[in-house]
Amino acid sequence: METRPGKRHGLGINKKLRELIGAALDWVYPPRCMVCADILPVNGPKQICGGCEGLLTPIVLPVCIKCGAPAETEEAECAICRRRKRVLSNTALFVYGDVAREVIHRFKYNGCRGYADGFAKLAIDGLGEGFFAGTDAMVPVPMFPKKRRRRGYNQAEELAWALSEITGVPVLIDYLKRVKETRPQAGLTPAERANNLIGAFALGGPAELKSLLLIDDIYTTGATLDACADLLRQGGAEQVRSLTLAVAVRREASRKPEDAEVYDAPIVT
Ligand SMILES: [Zn+2]
Ligand SMILES: [Zn+2]
Repeated sequence: METRPGKRHGLGINKKLRELIGAALDWVYPPRCMVCADILPVNGPKQICGGCEGLLTPIVLPVCIKCGAPAETEEAECAICRRRKRVLSNTALFVYGDVAREVIHRFKYNGCRGYADGFAKLAIDGLGEGFFAGTDAMVPVPMFPKKRRRRGYNQAEELAWALSEITGVPVLIDYLKRVKETRPQAGLTPAERANNLIGAFALGGPAELKSLLLIDDIYTTGATLDACADLLRQGGAEQVRSLTLAVAVRREASRKPEDAEVYDAPIVT
C-alpha cells in the first residue's frame, strides 16, 4: 500500500524550494488571520492574529480519554462515552463552538483549502511533534468519491498532508475507502447512525502498519471514527488513535440512549 510522505498534490519539490515559494507568496499575498481575515504582521504568528487568539477555545487538561472533550477529572471517560462504549482515543485541538464552526465551515466549503497549513501549525504548537512519534502513518477519514469530486478536495486529507509536511509521518491514501454514500450523521439517533455506517468503509490492503492515526475535522458522536478504527484494526493495525480539529461538546447529556444528541454549536456536515 502506498504511503506518500509530504508529497502533496503530487508536487515532488523539495522543502527548501517550497519555503522559498512560500516566502514569495507571503510577500505577494500576505498571510491573513484564519478567524478575522486581517493581514498578519510579517514576523508575527502565521495563523491567528493577537486579537483573535483564544477565540478558538483550546482544549486544556483534563480531557475525556475517549472523545478528547474537556472533562472534570483526568484519566476518565465522560458520561456519554461511557454510555456509548467508545473504543477509540481521540485528541482534539479545540472545542467546537461558534468560532470553530465558522472557520471549519470556510475550510470545508468556501475554498479555504490553505487553512490546512494553519491548522497543522496550531496542532504542532499545541501537541508538540512528540505526539506523532511512533506513528507509522496518518489515515484521513475518506469521503465518498462523488462527494469528493463535487467539493474538489477532502479536508481531512488536506490536513493530513499539511501535518505530514511538518512531522514527516506519511499519509496512507487509498487504503481506507468510503464505499457507500451515507446520510450526514448529525441529527440521527445512535441506532440510525449505526445503520447508516454499515458497509460504509472498506480496506484496500494490505498495509502492514502497526500504529495509525486517523485524521478528521470534527469529532461529533465518534461513530464514524470508531467504525474506521474497527476496520483498521481488522486490517492488522495494533494501535489506532485519532486527531481532529474540534470536538463537539454536548449541551446536555440525554438520559435516553435513543435520542439524538444536542451540541453547543450546530454541526456542519
Ligand atoms: Zn484575527
Ligand atoms: Zn468523552
